Amino acid sequence: MERRRSVYMDHAATTPVRPEVARAMLPYFSERFGNPSSLYSLAREAEEAVEEARGRVAAAIGASPEEVFFTSGGTEADNWAIKGAAAVRQKKGDHIVTSAIEHHAVLHTCQSLEKQGYRVTYLPVDGYGRVDPAAVDEAITDAAILVSVMAANNEIGTIQPIKAIAEVAHDHTIPFHTDAVQAIGAFPVDVDEMGADLLAISAHKFGGPKGTGALYIRRGTRITTFMHGGAQERGRRAGTENVPGIVGLGRAIELATADIPGKAARIAAMRDRLIRGIPDAIPDTRLNGHPTERLANNVNVAFRYVEGESILLMLDALGVAASTGSACTSASLDPSHVLTACGLPPEHAHGSLRLTLGHANTDDDVDYVLEVLPGIIERLRAISSLRGEA
Ligand SMILES: *Cc1c(COP(=O)(O)O)cnc(C)c1O
Repeated sequence: MERRRSVYMDHAATTPVRPEVARAMLPYFSERFGNPSSLYSLAREAEEAVEEARGRVAAAIGASPEEVFFTSGGTEADNWAIKGAAAVRQKKGDHIVTSAIEHHAVLHTCQSLEKQGYRVTYLPVDGYGRVDPAAVDEAITDAAILVSVMAANNEIGTIQPIKAIAEVAHDHTIPFHTDAVQAIGAFPVDVDEMGADLLAISAHKFGGPKGTGALYIRRGTRITTFMHGGAQERGRRAGTENVPGIVGLGRAIELATADIPGKAARIAAMRDRLIRGIPDAIPDTRLNGHPTERLANNVNVAFRYVEGESILLMLDALGVAASTGSACTSASLDPSHVLTACGLPPEHAHGSLRLTLGHANTDDDVDYVLEVLPGIIERLRAISSLRGEA
């Protein structure tokens, strides 16, 4: 009997912790359990491990260790960057410029600031999900205090012209934040090259543990303290450090950023087999996101007349873990804000499938998906109620 296959293609949602990372973390749960703030050798060991990790994160993004602040993940880093940069500039202005396709960690943070009286511009994107740097320039008002545009999109994989957008912000002497959560390990990230003043990172998106991340804060960039309490993180983010998590983040970023071109080429080859193979086998299919300015691991395709969640359930029954852009609840059928912003008609947006590859995926995994997907779409289309509406 054939063993049930198990194919994980949802690496944009989370990644497994690499064995080397888990091994590096383990002693900090047990024999090296010290609190870095205490004054004995056990504590010093933990403190040194935190500083070593800080150095690794800094080296991976071209920063200095003093510019790296550990957080509880990407969401906290985005919240701190946006709320902290806005609060400290309250007297200067109340206008924030971001894009319509940001992660909810940015969008909902901006929406919460709107309730406090800030004004936010959510820039539109083109059909491929790209932000036009000229549109950033036009949107900036005299009251603008922050520009925040993500480096690469988690749903459709589109990579933004970050350097050009940062230059526009700097021409107006406005700080620039980027959510680089999907970019780390996918392509080289250098804070100077990009022009980032603030940059958010999350460990679990590149082989590290969940609940650990970092905010890069360029030296001299003003920002408020996010968590009040002890003097950890040089008084700017209080709370006893998540030492095992931080150690894991440091080891994971080191591994993820070694030989990026080689690893990206291998993953992009699998991506391209899916991007070519799916429409070859299934009619009425379109690729979401940019054809070339795209994360090496991202495939996002829309199938007309089917429901994304139904595709996921049938894929799951065959051992394939994937994701969809259509958030279907019993009460509503809301297509993703990203696909909608790209101008996708609802009958396409509802039937979107995201496959995001990782290092453990193989050509066999790709073959398997290409083998099972056409039958799934055919069966769903045969029973589709969307078909009549379209
Ligand atoms: C996953 C993700 C986040 C949130 O990071 P967490 O560590 O899960 O809080 C933010 N932005 C993007 C683009 C993401 O993909």
